[in-house]
Amino acid sequence: MQELTHYINGEHVKGTSGRFGDVYNPATGEVIAKAPLASTAEVEKSVEVAAAAQPAWGATNPQRRARVLMKFVDLLNRDMDKLAEALSREHGKTLPDAAGDVQRGLEVVEYCIGAPQMLKGEFTDGAGPGIDMYSMRQPLGVSAGITPFNFPAMIPMWMFAPALACGNAFILKPSERDPSVPLMLAELMEEAGLPKGLLQVVNGDKEAVDAILHNPVIQSVGFVGSTPIAEYIYGTGCANGKRVQCFGGAKNHMIIMPDADMDQAADALVGAGYGAAGERCMAISVAVPVGDETADRLIEKLVPRIEKLKVGPYTDGNDVDYGPVVTAAAKANIERLVQTGIDQGAKLVVDGRGFSLQGYEDGFFVGPHLFDNVSPDMDIYKTEIFGPVLSTVRAGSYEEALKLAMDHEMGNGTAIFTRDGDTARDFASRINIGMVGVNVPIPVPLAYHTFGGWKKSVFGDLNQHGPDAFKFYTRTKTVTARWPSGLKEGGEFHFKPMD
Ligand code: NAD
Repeated sequence: MQELTHYINGEHVKGTSGRFGDVYNPATGEVIAKAPLASTAEVEKSVEVAAAAQPAWGATNPQRRARVLMKFVDLLNRDMDKLAEALSREHGKTLPDAAGDVQRGLEVVEYCIGAPQMLKGEFTDGAGPGIDMYSMRQPLGVSAGITPFNFPAMIPMWMFAPALACGNAFILKPSERDPSVPLMLAELMEEAGLPKGLLQVVNGDKEAVDAILHNPVIQSVGFVGSTPIAEYIYGTGCANGKRVQCFGGAKNHMIIMPDADMDQAADALVGAGYGAAGERCMAISVAVPVGDETADRLIEKLVPRIEKLKVGPYTDGNDVDYGPVVTAAAKANIERLVQTGIDQGAKLVVDGRGFSLQGYEDGFFVGPHLFDNVSPDMDIYKTEIFGPVLSTVRAGSYEEALKLAMDHEMGNGTAIFTRDGDTARDFASRINIGMVGVNVPIPVPLAYHTFGGWKKSVFGDLNQHGPDAFKFYTRTKTVTARWPSGLKEGGEFHFKPMD
């Protein structure tokens, strides 16, 4: 049994709290490692080290900092297979999907290589007679990030790449379910030339999170995970005077108009609903066909595609469509919710219950489920299931479909499938959801745009990556300067324009 560590001051450091979390191979159900769960004292120690290392890094010119990220990109590409394998082993997703997880993080690192451009300040020559005014973006100091299990490579990189590029030190508290890849990323950053102490990985649970939230040295906290925890972290972090951005859960609707290409829509739904076993914050979990005829045609196309899905361990190679869910508890929760769907009157069109895989009977596999005739009062509609369960809610009209998505408390992503430009345009303009796909089921913005939902899917005002990241990880200082030759005689007592 492997005992994992923290990564502090460039060293693997054993946990001293005496508390550990089990890390599973979800495909076999075996405990493969123990992750140390940090005490408050261990978090405080890591913050002290980070605070000592940060000033020199903050004073390093941005181009040199960017060169570390440039080298890091090379190392990520060099170790892509190794990272993907470690990720699949603890998370359960397929190898190509795990490589995609690394790749979508890498793309944000690439974007952050442009930090010198993004950090350029503003300058006004002659804001008054002999007066110049300029503003600069300076690092915050020590920043922290708390990340979920479902993207253990991508989301840590979305946070630490811009934070470090801006000259901060960073404390990463990854998910205790799959902490190996974050530790590997920290090692690679050091190999890329990052000075020790600037990227610390502190494994842990609520105790470590609370230690971060109450640490006065930490200036900003980024969080990605479920909505109740996002709300808690936002409230506590803000009350403690920190800059906080929290990204929460989702319930993403895909609207299928009668004029959509039904084969394309069905292919899109199968990938977006069941890929990564539905454990994506941008997964489509609700299909909303408009009109009964559209619904019947869609279901007819979906059923054979879903029945053909290959569910298996990542070791079975590229033809596996999705793997197990992350823990036995996640599996039990999905099964419980499926049962509520049946009890509350939804029609289970594809029944994935009782799914078992020969040789992997103890793995956390869940067969694919498709529900029809779901209504908004049902638990399977209201709750984020985070599993391979797609619910169909039939809408009588486009307006009804739009209203349904708008009335849901979550607002991460959504999509519309149609051939009609007017409808697509109207949808994109009116919908109260942060990321919108037009004939694109998972509209995750690229690194140079920003990522973020609306409503209960987000707490805070700046999005992840893109230009917003450079705002989140810096603060603005504005200087008004006049040289002695421009100074007038005597004091000035009135607040007035510069003349
Ligand atoms: P989670 O909320 O259980 O855990 C996220 C992090 O919070 C982990 O690091 C965990 O250790 C910590 N945590 C858990 N319980 C805590 C508590 N009581 N107090 C303090 N910290 C606590 O989420 P998860 O299960 O790891 O991830 C799945 C969730 O993340 C889903 O809801 C998914 O939609 C969401 N997610 C959202 C986005 C987004 O960008 N909006 C992206 C990925 C995942």
